[in-house]
Amino acid sequence: MRGFRLALAALLAGLVWSQDEGFGRSMPVIHSADFAREGGVLDGSLPVASFPRLADVLVSTDGDVAWQIRGGVDKFSRPWIEASLEGELVVRCQRCLNPMSWPFSIETRFTQFADEAAADEAEELDPDMETMVIEPALLVETLLEDELLLALPFAPTHAVCDAPQEQNRQDKPNPFAALAGLKTRKAE
Ligand SMILES: [Zn+2]
Repeated sequence: MRGFRLALAALLAGLVWSQDEGFGRSMPVIHSADFAREGGVLDGSLPVASFPRLADVLVSTDGDVAWQIRGGVDKFSRPWIEASLEGELVVRCQRCLNPMSWPFSIETRFTQFADEAAADEAEELDPDMETMVIEPALLVETLLEDELLLALPFAPTHAVCDAPQEQNRQDKPNPFAALAGLKTRKAE
């Protein structure tokens, strides 16, 4: 358990907990629409390594992701879930191929619909809207990981890349290698 705090509203929304075998933690599972209608709030912190699909595309799984989800209903009585995520990931610079840190603070609201057809129709009317189909057993971790994967920069690059290591070595001889050469000659 990594200190999940849950509001009473989330309990009223019929919150249950699932056992995550990989990390021996309990992860919240919610009914996405009930959670929204009850105004649920959940937050916590998860190690980056606990998101396997995300870990696949990262250079390192160091660090934690702070997260919060909130629920509500819009003026058309449609339930929504907002997910906020904050942290820092280590991605690969697509120019120099060295690791670079990518600090993020993202928030997305997903408006919920009964089926794909209704969600597609709503997105056509409002292209800025993010939608999801009502999920009676939504694993919160999956929602968070999907949002992180969507937010990852497609081709991240350093503002200024360090000079490539290989070139440094060719430009000037390593002083320690030269010293080692001297020692060898003395011993002969
Ligand atoms: Zn770079």
